[in-house]
Amino acid sequence: MPDSDKRQDLVVFIQHHVSATCVECGKDLPKGTLIRFQREKGTLCLECSDLDHLEFLPAGDAAITSRSRKYSRLWAVVVKFSRSRRRNERQGILAEPEAIERALAESEADSEERERRREREAVRRESLDRRYVAEFAQAIREQFPGIPSGADIKIAEHACLKHSGRVGRSAAAKSFEPDSVFLAVRAHVRHAYTDYDELLFKYDDRHLARERVREKIEAVLEEWRA
Ligand SMILES: [Zn+2]
Repeated sequence: MPDSDKRQDLVVFIQHHVSATCVECGKDLPKGTLIRFQREKGTLCLECSDLDHLEFLPAGDAAITSRSRKYSRLWAVVVKFSRSRRRNERQGILAEPEAIERALAESEADSEERERRREREAVRRESLDRRYVAEFAQAIREQFPGIPSGADIKIAEHACLKHSGRVGRSAAAKSFEPDSVFLAVRAHVRHAYTDYDELLFKYDDRHLARERVREKIEAVLEEWRA
């Protein structure tokens, strides 16, 4: 498919119905959750859409938004349905955390931006459970002793942020199970070591994109297992 055929932006909705469920994993998607909705595919959670590694950047600063889009291999527009105006309204974008970071850093000259960046980093740190991250990273290294140093922590932090909404030791223990660890590592490899995100952005077709990167992912995982 040539570039000129790139369809409209990827759109993520803020779920506005009383309740909804993901058609793939069956997860509950309460009002306010970010979802994808396509008439032919139904409602999908962000995890099943492979967009859960992206971070929300609220609308408000056009320069930062446009830079974040530019630096992100994959981004989506976030909209919310306004009942009173009967239309979808833009709330911001989802972009790669590193892209947002870079966009904010470039506007550091502005002190207000510097403050905003500090706040963002503080919120992120606060929501990280150090013990959870250490345990998760340990579980990763047991399964993948050859993982490059730093990658284990990165994956563990992501798992921790994702996990932070769920409570209880049993839920935490479940995420340390070999299958959960494997899925977290594989998702990281997919995004960080292949051109999966570019493919997903271009074609908006997970199945096609996954097929194209399957071998590369297997090769990386094989190397890390040793
Ligand atoms: Zn799902």
